[in-house]
Amino acid sequence: MVIRVLDPELASQIAAGEVVERPASAVKELLENAIDAGAKQIFVEILGGGVEQIRVTDDGHGIPAEEVELAFQHHATSKVATQEQLDAIATLGFRGEALPSIAAVSHLTLTTRPAQAQAGYQIEKRWGQPVRSGPHASPPGTTVTVADLFGNLPARRKFLKSASAESGRVHDLFSRYALAYPEIRFQLKSGGRTGLSTPGNGKWDQAFLAVYGPEVAGQMLEVAGEDPETGYRIDGFVGAAGLNRANRSYMTLLVNRRWIQSRVLAFALEEAYHGLLPEKRYPMAVLNLTLPFADVDVNSHPAKREVRFHHESRVYSLLQKAVRSALIAESPVPRLGSGALPPGSRGPGGDAPASTGFFRNPFDRSTPGAGFINKMGGGAGSRTTYSTAGGPETYSGPADAAATPRQALPLLRVVGQIKLTYIVAESPDGMYLVDQHAAHERVIFDRLRQQAASNSPQIQPLLQPVSVELTPGQLEVLQNNGDLLASHGYQIEPFGESTYLVRAVPSILNTSDPAQSLTDLLDMVAFEGLMRQQEDALTASLACHSAIRAGKALSDEEMRALLEQLEATDNPHTCPHGRPTLLHFSEYQMEREFGRR
Ligand code: ADP
Ligand code: MG
Repeated sequence: MVIRVLDPELASQIAAGEVVERPASAVKELLENAIDAGAKQIFVEILGGGVEQIRVTDDGHGIPAEEVELAFQHHATSKVATQEQLDAIATLGFRGEALPSIAAVSHLTLTTRPAQAQAGYQIEKRWGQPVRSGPHASPPGTTVTVADLFGNLPARRKFLKSASAESGRVHDLFSRYALAYPEIRFQLKSGGRTGLSTPGNGKWDQAFLAVYGPEVAGQMLEVAGEDPETGYRIDGFVGAAGLNRANRSYMTLLVNRRWIQSRVLAFALEEAYHGLLPEKRYPMAVLNLTLPFADVDVNSHPAKREVRFHHESRVYSLLQKAVRSALIAESPVPRLGSGALPPGSRGPGGDAPASTGFFRNPFDRSTPGAGFINKMGGGAGSRTTYSTAGGPETYSGPADAAATPRQALPLLRVVGQIKLTYIVAESPDGMYLVDQHAAHERVIFDRLRQQAASNSPQIQPLLQPVSVELTPGQLEVLQNNGDLLASHGYQIEPFGESTYLVRAVPSILNTSDPAQSLTDLLDMVAFEGLMRQQEDALTASLACHSAIRAGKALSDEEMRALLEQLEATDNPHTCPHGRPTLLHFSEYQMEREFGRR
């Protein structure tokens, strides 16, 4: 064995392995550079899952021409110069490794111009070697194009998944940054199609809406807490308990707005939901912890994914308490049969019931106009403070009741329909308002599950097969869920590269356009983040797709049938997405409201 120093090219390929694992990790580094450069707009375009090409364009402060070459040297950074700075890192990047590492494994072109500079500059590198450089016209800001990623490392290429899976990862990563920085306008294009774009107006709710869609955004609760002793703050939003997911990938945890993976914070978050979520279900959250830069070590992981806290237990209890109290404050209305209003839903003066629980859109109270940034930045005064001195607190009350197992519905008598959306019904224990779409979703969902379980789908063959052209994202969902689609009654077969023939659809699907409804369904599943093969998500999407819509007039007979079917389901209180199907007004509650008690 002879020990030798690796030649620089080989050494930098090895170093690159730590930073650039796959296209999404290159995108992460480039996004972080753009954010560190103070960009207001960041556009990302990928082709072939990012292997063919990644392009990140920002309008940040650019790099002076004379420094461009330097930026590609290992350990060359403008962000950290002294030991003190390293102990309190305020930027996302600090190692000076990303550009040389990415350049070592791709064909990279960087074009840049500081706003005040006369001309721009462009540099081109291939497998780390200079190809060309010199003055070049450029708008203010920086564009980095990374082509043929790992073209010189076939072994690494082999570890990559399909282009659509890699673009899924880029999409996921991109969403985290879009959520973390609502003041930046983000746009992601993949294969020429816009995947995600945010308005960049600083409003959290709109960034959230762009990433997760309106249904989810409407069910988020604001979290704001401060530890009086340390001054650490936690701000952000979490899903109401009814809004939960089958894995942890909807939890975005930020520390000084750096997206990180943290078992401590994740555990604190899950603890806050203790007793509120069904087993193996996880919350949705975007939470930012603000603390002095010196109190957290961000230099403890090769890809900067993890951090170390100086006061871990304080961080834990701050997050756990802040989230728990947001959940308690917003705990759902009237549980069935409780016969009483939840504490806090009526002040001594007697609030209108419309201000409580489910009736309240969290945005009405907190978000509009205020801007997430103020809250995330921790500049605004805290609304709540917690003493972290005591041990873990226990709460009781309606929020815990929410976790009690499913209860059957009482017999319901239809009174009528309002707004072509809700069914009003009466029962011995008071009045019910039923959301017709959510209720029907639940009914169909249960039926689909039964049919799939007993392998007896109700199939509706098409007179003529219909061909449908799929996008890469849709293809991915289709390929991952082929068996499940078949178990629900779909008969689909390949017909060319991205074209499929639909021969039969589930008979529950009430559609005149099977091609459109299939692509809608696949989009819906993709949107729910389901490339992770969650069986229920596809079934839930199919149920949602087939269920009667709000705005449809129903006859008394139809309403009666729907309520009967709802009563027969396993879990009549929530739709498959976790939204409530019905609201209950107990007799006691009505009497109180009317001053009879
Ligand atoms: P680091 O981000 O750790 O400093 P990088 O290799 O990612 O290291 O970048 C090296 C340097 O190049 C940065 O410190 C920064 O000065 C400059 N730079 C990289 N990308 C950009 C960009 N998009 N806009 C402005 N400057 C950039
Ligand atoms: Mg960097």
